[in-house]
Amino acid sequence: MATSLTQNFSKEEFKKNVISNCKSLYRKNIEEANDQEVFQAVSYAVKDIIIDKWIATHKQYEKDDPKMVYYMSMEFLMGRALGNNMINLCAYDEIKEALDELGLDINVIEDQEPDAALGNGGLGRLAACFMDSLATLEYPAYGCGIRYKYGMFKQEIKDGYQVEVPDNWLKDGNPFEIKRSEYRYEVKFGGYVRSYRDEKTGRDMFVQEDYRSVIAVPYDIPVLGYGNNTVNSLRIWDAEPVNTFNLNSFDKGDYQKAIEEENLAKNIVEVLYPNDNHYAGKELRLKQQYFFVSASVQRAVDRYKSMNNGDVKNIYKKVTFQLNDTHPTVAVAELMRILMDENGLEWDEAWDITTKTVAYTNHTIMAEALEKWPIELFSRLLPRIYQIVEEINRRFVEEIKAKYPGNQEKVRKMAIIYDGQVKMANLAIVAGYSVNGVAKLHTEILKKQELRDFYEMMPEKFNNKTNGITQRRFLKHANPLLSDWITDKIGDGWVTDLSQLEKLMLYVDDPKAQQDFMQIKYKNKVRLAKYIKENNGIDVDPNSIFDVQVKRLHEYKRQLLNILHVMYLYNQIKRNPDYDMVPRTFIFGAKAAAGYKIAKQTIKLINNVANVINNDASIKGKIKVVFIENYRVSNGEIIFAAADVSEQISTASKEASGTGNMKFMLNGAITLGTMDGANVEIVNEVGAENAQIFGLSSDEVIRFENEGGYDPMEIFNNDQEIRDVLMELINGKYSPEDTEMFRDIYNSLLNNDGGRRADTYFILKDFRSYAEAQRKIDERYRDTNGWAKTVMTNTAKAGKFSSDRTIEEYATEIWKLTKTPVEM
Ligand SMILES: *Cc1c(COP(=O)(O)O)cnc(C)c1O
Repeated sequence: MATSLTQNFSKEEFKKNVISNCKSLYRKNIEEANDQEVFQAVSYAVKDIIIDKWIATHKQYEKDDPKMVYYMSMEFLMGRALGNNMINLCAYDEIKEALDELGLDINVIEDQEPDAALGNGGLGRLAACFMDSLATLEYPAYGCGIRYKYGMFKQEIKDGYQVEVPDNWLKDGNPFEIKRSEYRYEVKFGGYVRSYRDEKTGRDMFVQEDYRSVIAVPYDIPVLGYGNNTVNSLRIWDAEPVNTFNLNSFDKGDYQKAIEEENLAKNIVEVLYPNDNHYAGKELRLKQQYFFVSASVQRAVDRYKSMNNGDVKNIYKKVTFQLNDTHPTVAVAELMRILMDENGLEWDEAWDITTKTVAYTNHTIMAEALEKWPIELFSRLLPRIYQIVEEINRRFVEEIKAKYPGNQEKVRKMAIIYDGQVKMANLAIVAGYSVNGVAKLHTEILKKQELRDFYEMMPEKFNNKTNGITQRRFLKHANPLLSDWITDKIGDGWVTDLSQLEKLMLYVDDPKAQQDFMQIKYKNKVRLAKYIKENNGIDVDPNSIFDVQVKRLHEYKRQLLNILHVMYLYNQIKRNPDYDMVPRTFIFGAKAAAGYKIAKQTIKLINNVANVINNDASIKGKIKVVFIENYRVSNGEIIFAAADVSEQISTASKEASGTGNMKFMLNGAITLGTMDGANVEIVNEVGAENAQIFGLSSDEVIRFENEGGYDPMEIFNNDQEIRDVLMELINGKYSPEDTEMFRDIYNSLLNNDGGRRADTYFILKDFRSYAEAQRKIDERYRDTNGWAKTVMTNTAKAGKFSSDRTIEEYATEIWKLTKTPVEM
């Protein structure tokens, strides 16, 4: 019942709590406290409401002992917690009112909270949306991750360049987390494996010796279900040195070892690697992976055993590990190790259990993202784990050879260890009982191309789970005006059943409803314009079309195509001052990985183009270009609500799903995109007439790639307008102080070098088609009713893209979980 909390909520008690928290935390009266202090005081008061449900949830789980999913992820891009917790408690308005009466502005208070930016982009945000849906659907779950001291860096733009600033998100304390010192685990690195024969059992036993270790200590963060009593936990692990826990090293006078262990602990959780869809192969990254996986698996096994009389053989009936990409794949070997070395099981028994416990989600087909660890590094850091992987590989290669006698090609492609490297995706597929892609097209490409050999050998493992997003954060919290309007029209059932949005189809032709819908969009554009003015100092016109591309900066996402088109459009207007167009504001937001040169150059290009265009009065404000600094979940919420056009323009076949596309659609924007990832399913829901699709299909892209690419010089030589734009990259038009500034970008489009095909991402190939699609957007926008109908239809048909639908599919088809409502 969605109002259960509201009935018990006492405004007066809440106000008293806030005041008293302020005193006990800061020795201040509420009037004396600063905004950050008030945020803390309010958050602790909200935590008070949460805590009894949190306790009740874990009591219920102990009583019913339901099967539990452990969602293992290097990343959880949670964003802010306070507003979301208020929403899921169904107490947002009541708390807002209570704060009003204390003279406090809820928006100001929410703005004090740093984003929990423990992730890069889509993959980490997916994990966060899944946590929200699991709790809302009353499924027993833990999120398992790392408590990075520094999350995703804060991006500042200085002179048009990205500058990375450390994100010390814990400096004022995290009011919602609870340290769980009682669940500490030792995690061992390095040393060697000693084997001996156990005289009693006659079995060979293995122990790691002369290792370095750290203590993993978990912090739990509550994850509230919407309108129910479920509060699951996101469990993120911190690292502490062993010697504060066990002074043995000092006792033995092994000072050096103690220092090394202290440094290991300090380093291991220090920072999130800021790479999105890119493998860097750093030793510390593998340490991070084993660190949180080992602690999580140890805890899951202990918890299971304590509830099942120490029996470990049926663990797969109550525990399942979902691997969010290959990053946590060492879980396979760690579970094997625990079952064999610590619980005395034989290989076959342990393998049978492991392969019923672990499941794997693939997030990309791009070669540069595939994790392959050099044997030397892997075996030195994780000697026992490596032995186990070696044996898994030995047995699997036997299987390949039995099935495909004499076919070395099959071994080359599928072996887990090959060519001096440990291939994590192959391990995850071989050991997993489920292998899923994240959108229909992506899963089909996996089956037909990238993982074809595996699919042929084990077709039953493969399945699709199209990604989703939570409407609680990305509509109810992000867009209160639209939420209230929708609820007014169709009731509030959509908050937990997004398919109900379909009822809005009754209104898409209703002129009054269209007007209201567009008025809400306008107000949200005013809100974003205010944010841009405050944060960028740029004036934008809310009457212009807000055309938005926010996502990680990556060549395959093709922000370059977007900005080259802006340059092209600018040329059109300059050539013809009467050029007829609806004023357009091109809005970008994107972080580039710190070491990704061409991505950072693209940010500089966008900013330089913005500078030239925004300061050219002769174009009468027809185009504005804005780069929003430090794109993240919290400002994303403002951005999605304000967009007219959602730019989803990846090279077809490269974007596994995308989830930004869904957030825009839900908030009433039209997708301007390629037939890639979940765009395909969005078009399928709204109908081709309610999207603007352009460009090569994935089949065409894959065919060109198999033929070794295409020749962009042909376009350069024959299309004068494209040629003009490309020449402007190197003639100083956008970099008068240094004409070479954008040379790498120019070269990437036209030159084959370093084994890299010219225009790897088909930007020039798709340019004309994109420009034409942009022209159609302009044309469509002039038809006020037609436009309103289209964007309303996008909202109305967004139901499929709720992460509730996604999680329901995971829970029933992969995990076999039972809903466990919490009684209070
Ligand atoms: C949703 C989201 C993403 C993913 O966006 P895509 O367009 O799917 O790449 C990345 N970052 C943030 C902050 C998000 O909220």
